[in-house]
Amino acid sequence: MFEINGSTKLTGIIGMPIEHSVSPQMHNTAFDKLNLNYCYVPIPVKPEDLEKALEGIRMLGFVGVNVTIPHKEAVIPHLDEVTKLARLTGAVNVVLNQEGRLVGYNTDGPGFIDSLKEDAGFDVTGKKVVVLGAGGAAKAVTIMLAQDKVKTMVISDIDYERSEKLCEYINSHFSLAPYACPVKSKELYKSIEECDLLVNATPVGMYPKDKECPIDNSVIFKPETIVYDLVYNPLETKLLKLAKTKGVKPISGIGMLVRQGAVAFSLFTEEEAPVDIMKEAALKALK
Ligand code: NAP
Repeated sequence: MFEINGSTKLTGIIGMPIEHSVSPQMHNTAFDKLNLNYCYVPIPVKPEDLEKALEGIRMLGFVGVNVTIPHKEAVIPHLDEVTKLARLTGAVNVVLNQEGRLVGYNTDGPGFIDSLKEDAGFDVTGKKVVVLGAGGAAKAVTIMLAQDKVKTMVISDIDYERSEKLCEYINSHFSLAPYACPVKSKELYKSIEECDLLVNATPVGMYPKDKECPIDNSVIFKPETIVYDLVYNPLETKLLKLAKTKGVKPISGIGMLVRQGAVAFSLFTEEEAPVDIMKEAALKALK
């Protein structure tokens, strides 16, 4: 690893808990590879200490930090500026310290779209999509899908009202009218049968729900459908296994994780991110 000295630039991640994060390994390996005198540290921050921690980022001259659970939304009122996309998403996962001004970005949605393009060769424009879940990740994903002009969108959260609220939100900002479907309903399975892209944005499939699948075996897909699971631990979820047995393309959320990190890396360093190196480091850290 690069030797830390008086010129080392500081970056990191604030959240709670933070031990599970693979971002330190992804970023430090990339700094090392590009011979950049940067360092990335995990910083546990309790919700009640968030404001003081941000002041610390400013005063200690950090170049920037990633922001993760539970601060992605709470951080916004403490920033000097927030990009349009982060404001629309209602969440910030990167804060840059621009000469003492803290600016909030969201790289989750762009990371998802980059991953779809690069990992699946999939362009969302004009496509029919179904998104399972209507929480924070679903919001980031549906905003990008709407911005990139999908043809139709169905949202299905276990809490039907939450699905409806996200549909209304998308409809109020884009010329797209998504519709909400109850989970396990015939309508949902019909929509999946007709869709080009199915996205799982629920925690179903992720440890401790790693033995569960958000849809059942009766599902039918068109042969060219892509199944994207935002869950990346395990890498091959029950849903991705099901997609494989049905003969359609499964894509793991590791791609989104790496690419949101790659966009953040470029914000921190103004260099192009070594995506393959970052992915390798993330996979190693997950093992
Ligand atoms: P969240 O805010 O908790 O939202 C998840 C939503 O899914 C909740 O509304 C939840 O309802 C709902 N849900 C649970 N079981 C469901 C089911 N069987 N069918 C439909 N909806 C269901 O979580 P999040 O932050 O959006 O994250 C969702 C997943 O994405 C997590 O596994 C996270 O690790 C992953 N993620 C991955 C990346 C990446 O880079 N790959 C980035 C962000 C998030 P209840 O709250 O009522 O259970």
